[in-house]
Amino acid sequence: MSDPADLDWTPEGAPVSRRFGDVYFSREDGLAESRAVFLAGCGLPQAWAGRDRFVVAELGFGTGLNIAALLDLWSRAGPAGGRLHVFSVEAHPLSRHAAARALAAWPEIAASTRRLLDAWPASTPGFHRVDMPDLRVTLDLAVGDAAWALRQWSGPADAWFLDGFAPSANPAMWSDAVLDAVAARSAPGARLGTFTVAGAVRRGLQARGFQVDKRPGHGRKRERLEAVAPPGPLSRPPERIVVIGAGIAGQSVARALSDAGRTPLIIDAQAPGSGASGFPAALVTPRLDAGDARIAGLYAQALERAGRLYRAIPDAVIREGVLQLASIDRDAARFVRVAAQAHWDGAMRPLDARETSRRVEEALDASGLWMEGAMAVRPSAIRQAWLRDVEVARRAVVGLEPHDEGWRVVCADASPILTDAVVMTAGWGVADLLPQLGLSPVAGQADWVEGVSAPVAVAWGGYAVPTGGGLLWGATHDRGVAEPTVSDAASARNLATLRARLPGLALHIPEWPAGRRAAVRATTSDRLPLAGAVPGRAGVFVLGGLGSRGFTAAPLLGEHLAARIIGAPSPLPSGFAALVDPERPNRRSETFISGSATK
Ligand code: SAM
Repeated sequence: MSDPADLDWTPEGAPVSRRFGDVYFSREDGLAESRAVFLAGCGLPQAWAGRDRFVVAELGFGTGLNIAALLDLWSRAGPAGGRLHVFSVEAHPLSRHAAARALAAWPEIAASTRRLLDAWPASTPGFHRVDMPDLRVTLDLAVGDAAWALRQWSGPADAWFLDGFAPSANPAMWSDAVLDAVAARSAPGARLGTFTVAGAVRRGLQARGFQVDKRPGHGRKRERLEAVAPPGPLSRPPERIVVIGAGIAGQSVARALSDAGRTPLIIDAQAPGSGASGFPAALVTPRLDAGDARIAGLYAQALERAGRLYRAIPDAVIREGVLQLASIDRDAARFVRVAAQAHWDGAMRPLDARETSRRVEEALDASGLWMEGAMAVRPSAIRQAWLRDVEVARRAVVGLEPHDEGWRVVCADASPILTDAVVMTAGWGVADLLPQLGLSPVAGQADWVEGVSAPVAVAWGGYAVPTGGGLLWGATHDRGVAEPTVSDAASARNLATLRARLPGLALHIPEWPAGRRAAVRATTSDRLPLAGAVPGRAGVFVLGGLGSRGFTAAPLLGEHLAARIIGAPSPLPSGFAALVDPERPNRRSETFISGSATK
């Protein structure tokens, strides 16, 4: 949990910050002031006219009143078909309950308030993305200090609401570091509105190239400030985008691009769901890292985002919560350390053997970790939802050649496809086209039956997962094996492991499974995914190396990649983006440096 807001309430029901000794909004008419200072101050709604995407960034999310007023204006006067992206920062988040109490004062915007409260982001430290699809709005809330959050944010913003408490009460919100980052993350001509006309703020903005104007203030405030960032060339994102691979990585990228109003073409040699993402059930579990807070934080954010998106798909979630069983003695202590990490906020609970046994409904001698936000999902439901409006071409891609400003995707038995940008999402198939990425194959088989149900989804390195009607268990890990081959030997190994970990459940499993399947996962030497631009190949991107955690990592990383491609704000803090950057330092990859750069 982060450091929550410390509130007092006035007799009229308005929140006051004890920490800063200041009001969140004017007691007389907060909504009118918000509209005057921030919406009109940034030239809205005129400033977004004709735009297909508009980005508003705010310092000081507070009760969300400014954003609720923004949503209200957007729903009445947003550009047809346009998308609104909101980035806001809050060091001391209000609970949904406290925000609802504060916002109840403005029945006039009740519909927008309700949407915001329904989507209310989590309050753990880090970035949290939520959607309001019916409004075509995405909100990224950064929970943490403003200077940190802005450094981590990719931007750029078309409009800024600077709404920290008064500079005298809260200088940290108006520091040089904050103003530097505001200037650096402003789109050309970005507009800025704030209630303060403090000299330091005015001069600070001017020194960073903003044209600053004092305007008549609202209510009790005599004056307010409007500012405009210097003009400059607008960047032109690629028009045509080809995604190669229709598994969960390709589906995630395609979903994120479609959501941003783009229409990618997916190419796959086989029908979607034929590869490692095509089992009857999949686990969505984080990589647990008791030592490296960044890796753990990345997976916590990925899990939160994946869960939110999967819950929005009918029939996608089979079971919420996953039990991780200890495999070695050290695990019990490790589980305690993991559960204490700030970003889990109580979602991880270490269990002793008695509690573990109660969950699995059989006597076990192992301790465990209950992972509240983890889940078992139905890949077919996700595939249907995310590929519904996306064109998928059945072709085998055999090469990528530079062509004019873009790429020629060379296909077997078909004419090449010309594109401006290419996203490689073909799992182990990426290795053929981009050997320099240094991916390794790990073949695996899982087996399943119908009519057997487990009380919970369980993982221990292997897994036993309800499919919603049956049970899936496995999987083998054959490192270095690039050919997926189903075998009796692998079924025997899977059953032996299941018997060893969950002997009671295994009693219900017939000697031979009703279904089984083998596929190849792709992994990297540091076991972290690749999500970003492929070095030396302008316009080629990769989302790969997802190992066994594709259903956890792909939705968030797909959004990150889509944002990189079209120049929209990424949901990932830059520190996490660096962890998955294909060009990250220290990634052991012998072939990487020698890989030929053709463009
Ligand atoms: N825009 C808000 C609304 O519509 O309710 C009101 C914002 S209130 C005036 C200022 C907010 O800035 C508070 O919620 C406070 O917790 C937050 N804040 C103060 N200092 C901060 C900092 N250094 N980093 C991030 N947020 C901060």
